[in-house]
Parts: sequence; C-alpha cells; structure tokens
Amino acid sequence: MYGIAMDLGTSGFRAQLIDLGTRQIIKTSMTTKHPLPGANITDHLDFAITVGEDIAHEIIIDTVCKLITTFNVDPLQISKIAVCGNPIQLSLFQNSEIRDLAYAGKNMQKRLGIENIERQARIFPASGIIKNRIGLDVCAVIVPPAVQHEVGADALAMMMKTDFLEQTAPTLVTDYGTNAEMAIKVGNRIITGSAAAGPAIEGQGVSCGMLAGPGAISDVNLEGKYWRLTVLDESMTSRPSYLVDPCSGDVIERAVLEPMGITGTGLIACLALAMQTGLIERPPRLKYGKLMLTEGIRISENDIKEAGKAIGAIRAAQLTLIIEAGLAYEELENTYMTGASGTYVDPWKAMYVGSCPKYSGRIVQFGNTSLSLARDILTDDSKLAEVIDLANKIKVDHLMMATSATFKKFYTCELSFWTEGMDMESYNHFLKIYKLPILPSVSAEPQMVKCTLDDAPDAKDQNIRIVDDIGVMVEEEAVGCIMCHQCEIECPEKAISNMEKDGALVVMYSTQKCLGTACKRCVNVCPVKAINYRDIRILS
Ligand code: SF4
Ligand code: SF4
Repeated sequence: MYGIAMDLGTSGFRAQLIDLGTRQIIKTSMTTKHPLPGANITDHLDFAITVGEDIAHEIIIDTVCKLITTFNVDPLQISKIAVCGNPIQLSLFQNSEIRDLAYAGKNMQKRLGIENIERQARIFPASGIIKNRIGLDVCAVIVPPAVQHEVGADALAMMMKTDFLEQTAPTLVTDYGTNAEMAIKVGNRIITGSAAAGPAIEGQGVSCGMLAGPGAISDVNLEGKYWRLTVLDESMTSRPSYLVDPCSGDVIERAVLEPMGITGTGLIACLALAMQTGLIERPPRLKYGKLMLTEGIRISENDIKEAGKAIGAIRAAQLTLIIEAGLAYEELENTYMTGASGTYVDPWKAMYVGSCPKYSGRIVQFGNTSLSLARDILTDDSKLAEVIDLANKIKVDHLMMATSATFKKFYTCELSFWTEGMDMESYNHFLKIYKLPILPSVSAEPQMVKCTLDDAPDAKDQNIRIVDDIGVMVEEEAVGCIMCHQCEIECPEKAISNMEKDGALVVMYSTQKCLGTACKRCVNVCPVKAINYRDIRILS
C-alpha cells in the first residue's frame, strides 16, 4: 500500500508517494504556484472570503487531485494522505472556518462575531473531500493539529524536525517562504511570529522569477569577473550551468543545463554578488540599470525593490523576536533555516543581504520540515500522537507583526534601505532614534551546518513531476455587459474573457493566471459595472 505526504505551501504544493512497506519515497510531484489567484496569503484569504470558502476549497482539492494523479497508481492502493501546512492552507483544504485567521485583533473579531477556532488533529475519509474525483475509497486523510489558532502544523514541524525544542542556548528558527514562520527560544520561553515576506522570496513577483523547480537558477558564484549560474535539474539537484557576464548578458560558456528563470535563492545570490562587486551601488540602484544572466533573464531595479521588501520583512520580524525575547543580537547562538528557500540558499549570501542573522554562532539548514513531518506521520504510527501531545503541552507567545510597534520601526528602516537607497549608517541612526539597539558590525564567522542537501530526499534518481495545469475556470454573469472587451484589454495576465453562453453574457476567469482580488483591474475598468468578481461559480 501507498501513502501520500503533502505540503500545502503558500507559493505551491509538494507531494510525495511513499511505499508504506519500505518507507521509501517513490515519486515527488510539485506545482510551480498556488492554485488560488494571487501570490500571497492575503490574496488567498481575500479570495476565499470574497467569493466563498467552498469555491477556494474546490480549487485547492482540484490541484491536490491533479498531484495525486501524476503518481499513476491505483487509487485503491493509497491508504492514507498526511497533509501539513499553515492554518490557512489546511483550513481551506478541509473547507473549515478561516475568518478568525483573516481578521486580526480582538475588537474586530468581536464586532464581526468571530471566535478563534481550535484546530485539532483530524483523521477523516478522503472520499469526504475528494468525492468521486479519483476514487480514493479506502484512504484516510490525516491533518496534524495547530498549537494556537494562528500557530499551525508547519510551525510545529519546524520546531519538531530540528532540535529547537531541546536547545538550551538562544535559538531562532525560520521557515523561509512567502509567509515566513519563525520562532525564538530563550530558556523555556518560546515566541512565535510570521512575516508576510511576499512572493519574491520564492522567486515569484519578479520579472524572470520562478519557484524552485527544474531549470531554476538557485545560486550564482563568482569566477573571475563572470558569474557561474547554478541551476536545479530534473531531480532538484543543484548543477553548474552557464558562465555569464552580468553586465552585458553575454554567455561566456554554455552548459547542458539551461537556465529558465530565477528562484528566490538565486535572487539572493545575485543581490549578494552585485552588492559585493559594486554592481549594486546602493539598493535598489544598479550600476548598469540591470543585471543580465543570459539573453532572456534579467534583474531590474524594480526586482531588487521587490526582493528587498521580502528580505526586509524577514529581517525586521527576526529582529523583533530577538528584541521581544530580551536578547542582545550577539547572544543569539543558533539560527535554523527550513523550507525550500532555507535549504537551497547559500547561507553566506543570505547573511550578506540580511535574510539570515550575521551575528549568530551557528547556522543550520534543515530542509522542508513541513513535508518531512507529513512523511513521518505516514510512516510512523506513533508520530501523530506525538505531534498532538506536543501541541497540547507547548506554550508559546505569539507575536502579531501587524500590530507590533517594534516590527513597524524595523520595517520602516528596511523599506528605506531597500527602496530609497538609505545606507546602513542612517539605518542605525534611525534605530537609535527609535530607542532600538543598532545592528552589530560583525567579524566572527558562524559555524555552518547543512543537514539536508535537497528538498526531496531519496528522490535523486527520479525526475520530479511538475504540475503546471492548476487552477480552474470560474465564471460570472455579466449583467448589462456591452461587450466592449475593456476588461480583457486591461487584464495584465490575459486571465479573463467575455462570451455569450446559453443566451447570457458571462466573463470567465482563469484562477491560475489571475493576480487575485488585490488586482481587480477588470472590475474597475468596466464602464457599466457589469462584473464584481464576487458572484462567481466554478465552470462545470
Ligand atoms: S484584471 Fe481581473 S482577471 Fe485579470 S489578473 Fe486582474 S483581477 Fe485577475
Ligand atoms: S468591461 Fe464590462 S462591459 Fe466591457 S466587456 Fe468587460 S464586463 Fe462587459
């Protein structure tokens, strides 16, 4: 019999087929984006609340089914699916309440009559949510618990799959991703938080960006005055690729493995090298206006701003946790990096740009702990009980960055540094004004440890299957539409089309292409207010 381990991330889903007899990973499949419109957790929440949680749930289940189908095994041979992720993704997957996660602040929740939900572990028949799509008639779905309503199974995973909970020295763990979960432990106190870093940290939302997948530039290194690109191959292993001149884009030496785009870790590497070599004079200003990695892959000043906002949000949240824990920066002994971005990034370059603390004594990279916990739950019958026991016992103080005055001060400095060209001297000057300790200038070199080399262990000889065809078509009746096609013309992603259907005028949206409710250009441009992007239904 088989099991499926699944990690529902904000920027994409990963699934692994496990042989439950041998406990071996047989196949790995992943998506290159999230199936809901938009690229961050706020977009997903907004979409679900605006158009209906049931529609968001159906779109997610559709993608889950597509991932399972790529494994090409008899569905009756799949006996369990363990699913890990943050509380929003897991709630949408189960079609359960999300409003307590959408509205921060007790007063707002009280006004709206929303109670915090306890997200307990659940085991239920897959047929309940998969229905009759792929015939998982003998399969159970296992969902691990959350600690508190906003501290989910992914946060538990990053604490359990590292030695964070046993550490006696001050330790910070960060699950790098679009929504970066993090926790700090000082003595027996644990403080959790999360930074809405945004899509650039995973290579999305930048002009030539892509998620970590085959063809993605995951690292860049200096060879004389040229840059050697490192690209992920079909089994997600990092391989040397083209040697390029970043000033002209000339390819000095080609390689079998061709770069297709750049992922977040590659972007961090480019920023670090460009800052080191003077190609970035002061972010976001580029000496030659852009960095060119081949004829078609370029990094613009706008990309640097986007990457900087993501790096800045993570650094500001990490600094906030350190301050809230009452630590001096240099007292931080351990920094743990998890998640795909935390696995593939060169930690020296992450330190250089600031997404990983420079002043920590030891930096350890652990890999995708969320997927790893899902695998453990499948292959170890006692693991779920262990997770439940921990979720019941553990006491954490959760810090909402959105309402933290300390976070706001740090993030203001980060924004000025990355988007306005402010130097570090001025950054520290503002910290003094804010009565916050200045960032240390560092000379000590931390000890570096890499525990997992890639994101899909044991899948080395298997090509990872990329599922590109995700999302669904949804439609909305366009009452009073004059067929001017302005909505189509205005849409930056060609995600909308007008047509007549069964005697009515409708618009159809591709949820895969659509930028989400944060865009709404189609709605705003419509001269007769024929569409609202609310009253939509999934195209049958
Ligand atoms: S214009 Fe409309 S359909 Fe196009 S990306 Fe924006 S919200 Fe989506
Ligand atoms: S912009 Fe409005 S009126 Fe024009 S085609 Fe689109 S929905 Fe119809």
